Amino acid sequence: MEKIYLDYAATTPVDERVLEAMLPFFGQTFGNPSSVHTFGQRAEAAVETARERMAALLNCQSKELIFTSCGSESDNLALRGVAFARREKNGANHILISPVEHHAVSVTAEQLARLHGFELEFLPVDEHGMVDPDDLAARIREDTALVSVIFANNEIGTINAIAALGAVCQARGVPFHSDAVQAAAHLRLDVQALNVDLLSLGAHKFYGPKGVGALYVRSGTPIVPIQTGGGQEFGLRAGTSNVPYIVGMAQAFELAQRDSNGDPAGLAALRDHLIGCVLETIPDARLTGHPSRRLSNHASFVFKGVDGNALLTMLDVAGFACSSGSACKTGLPEPSEVLTAIGLPREWALGSLRVTLGRQTTAGEVEAFLNRLPELVSRARKA
Ligand SMILES: *Cc1c(COP(=O)(O)O)cnc(C)c1O
Repeated sequence: MEKIYLDYAATTPVDERVLEAMLPFFGQTFGNPSSVHTFGQRAEAAVETARERMAALLNCQSKELIFTSCGSESDNLALRGVAFARREKNGANHILISPVEHHAVSVTAEQLARLHGFELEFLPVDEHGMVDPDDLAARIREDTALVSVIFANNEIGTINAIAALGAVCQARGVPFHSDAVQAAAHLRLDVQALNVDLLSLGAHKFYGPKGVGALYVRSGTPIVPIQTGGGQEFGLRAGTSNVPYIVGMAQAFELAQRDSNGDPAGLAALRDHLIGCVLETIPDARLTGHPSRRLSNHASFVFKGVDGNALLTMLDVAGFACSSGSACKTGLPEPSEVLTAIGLPREWALGSLRVTLGRQTTAGEVEAFLNRLPELVSRARKA
């Protein structure tokens, strides 16, 4: 039986046009962009063209775009790089983040607090995982080194009011970072309109290759490199550039961003159909995340009294690849921090299910899923 993939928030397949753009840079044009000779110049031209294409879409200068190895590295560079630079420059020692960040942000911020003495404070969120700009304004301080709020949440799909949050930070002169790794496939990213100083991207979430990402850094933002060595990436990220992957990321980003967004027509309607059916046919089911301010491909639920991991296994056996929010560590399931932060009690939060659609998803696949899910949830409840 063909397996049906409903986990596009975990990763996406590489678009054929992306793969085609990458191939010449493995063998034909293999030079090191830092080399002086023609081989190097050709590779460097490919990297700089990729940078210009992405910068044009982001509405920034190409020298404000740093290539990294993944979305996680971009988050690490943003948080560590700015925290250390701001402390050195202004003595700023306070870090403000939302409690619904991806681990690449939250674990990094926690380490900055534990090992480096930063004071870490979490912003409040409402039951949908949204940060209120007034709450940010009340908590931001003179000694705040940086603020980080996720753009579109990977677990619950909620889209934060990034432009309004950014405006608060701008007025107070505090660098503002947003993790847009999940947003890039679905939302137009204009760093001027969004009022961000730093923005993280990861190619494999928008039909590009795994192992490459980017960080936008507004000119003038205090930042030091975290990976030190050579002077690549304007001295902010040492290491020989991954030329084919960078070329692929630029191609994928253009496909995703060019026509307002890369979503196929009807994706949001298919998502709404899925959400409506699940809530109608399954008792004790709730949608997680915002009902309307959510990613066009993203449906996420909790089912009371269900073991989310058991449900995922049953779904996999039945031919459906989905995801859950609860990580099962050493056999003892723990509800995710995100679901806890939005106030879900444990007996609900443990039964989470994330269903994310993508470019290849068909209405028939969603129908097949909806036909099987009620019975599997009911079985997972008894288990
Ligand atoms: C996937 C993801 C990341 C990590 O990106 P990688 O490229 O896999 O390291 C960070 N933040 C969010 C919101 C994500 O969805």
